[in-house]
Amino acid sequence: GSRVMDEINQVMAMIDAAAGSASTYSESLSNASDRLTQAKDRNALRSIVESLVATANEMQVNNRSLEERLNASKEEINQLQEHLATVRSESLTDPLTSLSNRKHFDERLAHCIAEAAERGESLSLVMADIDHFKAFNDTWGHLTGDQVLRLVAMSLRQNVKGQDITARFGGEEFAVILPNTALRSALTVADHIRRAVMSKELMKRSTGQNLGRVTISLGVAAAHKGDTSQSLIARADACLYAAKRNGRNRVLCETDPEAANTADTKVA
Ligand code: GH3
Ligand code: MG
Ligand code: MG
Repeated sequence: GSRVMDEINQVMAMIDAAAGSASTYSESLSNASDRLTQAKDRNALRSIVESLVATANEMQVNNRSLEERLNASKEEINQLQEHLATVRSESLTDPLTSLSNRKHFDERLAHCIAEAAERGESLSLVMADIDHFKAFNDTWGHLTGDQVLRLVAMSLRQNVKGQDITARFGGEEFAVILPNTALRSALTVADHIRRAVMSKELMKRSTGQNLGRVTISLGVAAAHKGDTSQSLIARADACLYAAKRNGRNRVLCETDPEAANTADTKVA
């Protein structure tokens, strides 16, 4: 941003200088015009024309260098704009999984809740958490754990559509915002994701060792009238913990009897 400002200031200074020399030019033109009306002989005329040609040449050189400078500036500003767009997108992306990060998720969820309320459309939220991931990390190491996070992210991405938002909510927790989606369809999406994760056999890249499979638990909630980001996340989260308590590797929503009256209890 500050480099764009520098560039603009430099160009403004150049334009000021050019405007200055243009007004000098116009002064010397009107001078010449006065002198022309008073010119008495060939020699006087010749000297006026010569000075006109000299001024015109000088002006041309000035214009050319201004043009070159403006072109260079245009190029520089284009590059800075591209760079700015990249930086902005990086600031919203989780580097490990390339999913939306928490900041972007928070922004999008608030926006989607407001939009759904305004349009009278449905909206669902899926929260997911990897099962027994601590044990996996302790056994195979954090770098292999990171590969698992990428694999779960891929399973999320592959099972949603264009307007859905997949995010890394925290360490090994994920979230999917499903605009224009009722609870029943959101449950289907969640179950597709769950199956996709458990269907993948994990392999340690360096040794080719088979690491078995991981599973995830998911909770799904649909937005009600008056919901905020917090209240919607809390309900989806309560369902996620109910899924953990009821054996993991499953999807639960608030209408499931297993999830009823459990909002305050957390799994050990
Ligand atoms: P549960 O089934 O109840 O969810 O058990 P859990 O072991 O998955 O739950 P817990 O919250 O105890 O452990 C979460 C673990 O996730 C702790 C940490 O080892 C791991 N973890 C969190 N963030 C990262 C990360 O960025 N990379 C890796 N490799 N592991 C992470
Ligand atoms: Mg967790
Ligand atoms: Mg976990």
